[in-house]
Amino acid sequence: MAAALQGRPVSIIGGGIGGLTAALALAQRGASVTLYEQAAELAEVGAGIQLSANVVRVLDALGLGPAIAPHALRNTAVHLHDAAGRAVMQMDLLAHRPQARFLIIHRARLIAVLAAAAAAAGVDIQLGTRIDAPPQGGLVIGADGLKSPIRQVLNGQQVPFFTGQTAWRAIIPDAPAQSATAQVFMGAGQHLVSYPLAHGQRNIVAVVERHDWQDEGWSLLDDPDNLRRAFSSFGGPVPEWLAAVTATNIWGLFRHPVAEQWHNDHIAILGDAAHPTLPFLAQGAGMAIEDAWILTACLDAETDQPTALARYQALRQPRVTRIVEAANANARNYHLRGPKRHAAHAILRMANRFAPKVMPSKFDWLYDYDPLQAVKTRGR
Ligand SMILES: Cc1cc2nc3c(=O)[nH]c(=O)nc-3n(C[C@H](O)[C@H](O)[C@H](O)COP(=O)(O)OP(=O)(O)OC[C@H]3O[C@@H](n4cnc5c(N)ncnc54)[C@H](O)[C@@H]3O)c2cc1C
Repeated sequence: MAAALQGRPVSIIGGGIGGLTAALALAQRGASVTLYEQAAELAEVGAGIQLSANVVRVLDALGLGPAIAPHALRNTAVHLHDAAGRAVMQMDLLAHRPQARFLIIHRARLIAVLAAAAAAAGVDIQLGTRIDAPPQGGLVIGADGLKSPIRQVLNGQQVPFFTGQTAWRAIIPDAPAQSATAQVFMGAGQHLVSYPLAHGQRNIVAVVERHDWQDEGWSLLDDPDNLRRAFSSFGGPVPEWLAAVTATNIWGLFRHPVAEQWHNDHIAILGDAAHPTLPFLAQGAGMAIEDAWILTACLDAETDQPTALARYQALRQPRVTRIVEAANANARNYHLRGPKRHAAHAILRMANRFAPKVMPSKFDWLYDYDPLQAVKTRGR
């Protein structure tokens, strides 16, 4: 380790999962970090988040394993169903890669763990502070999400586009669980994902295609009856889960293309600021966490900051582009209509029965990726 970060001043704009992870990683390597968050407190919407093995490797390297463990469940499998609740495919995560850990956690718990660790590592967290232009002096990191002003400094004016998808999120009470199985129910133009959380809760994300979304609001409260109506044709456990929903938020899902320019000589962007994605591969926050680690490792390994930032973009851009495209493909595949849907489900059922290892291994490139090795092995 070249320890190039010792004492280096860094300003981070945005206290979401990406900004907090970067703050912690940089502070652990000796940087003098100030984090600016526009909100008055570090809060998160009531929702769960899936952290796949590629992401858990970073959280472990940051020393967060023990703080996360009491609040996380181990995800053991992903089960795909049709809208009626009939099994289509089962991806056993443990059988395919027994050593890897896939976790599920409430977002607010993850934010709390990251914030406490960042503060303990010496990060100066300035809440209620909106920053719209890069501060002078030192390195500036834009972790300021979908509408990032820092992205615009690097890439010019860009307005996020509506993807034609909206998502409800809700949390309901559930029997306490030791481990988790993510359940996906796929209907024409809509799907629903659910998994248990620690402490006797269950997370629900329900997505529908919709072309009339007017509200630019990021997250709105909605009447749970709207959610129930939209998924009234779904079977299996879905009706019982939805009957238990007493409060729900709805999101219009917006995104940008992956940014062309991620840095100049003294500014860099990460997470949703650089590459917002559809949530259909559960990798948005994961990519932000990978970015934070790799940006830090590049900066620490190389005293010339522009060279380090160029290397960061070169390492990250191809991977996140592939992930965003895979999430888009899932959006199409989950929502197929008519004969195409029946044919696709029939093929998946056959594959599940006769070649059960094929589907899990389709994602080796995603889950077997080790961000800790990525910087060590390339060009150092
Ligand atoms: C329905 C849904 C389900 C999802 N499920 C998953 C999942 O299971 N797994 C997963 O990995 N990802 C998931 N994601 C994606 C994930 O939520 C995002 O990709 C991730 O939160 C992005 O983190 P970020 O830190 O880059 O940005 P954000 O979380 O958007 O944080 C940006 C922060 O910057 C602050 N900010 C913005 N502008 C300024 C400013 N000018 N000055 C100061 N502060 C500012 C904001 O207040 C905010 O706190 C999901 C997303 C959705 C919509």
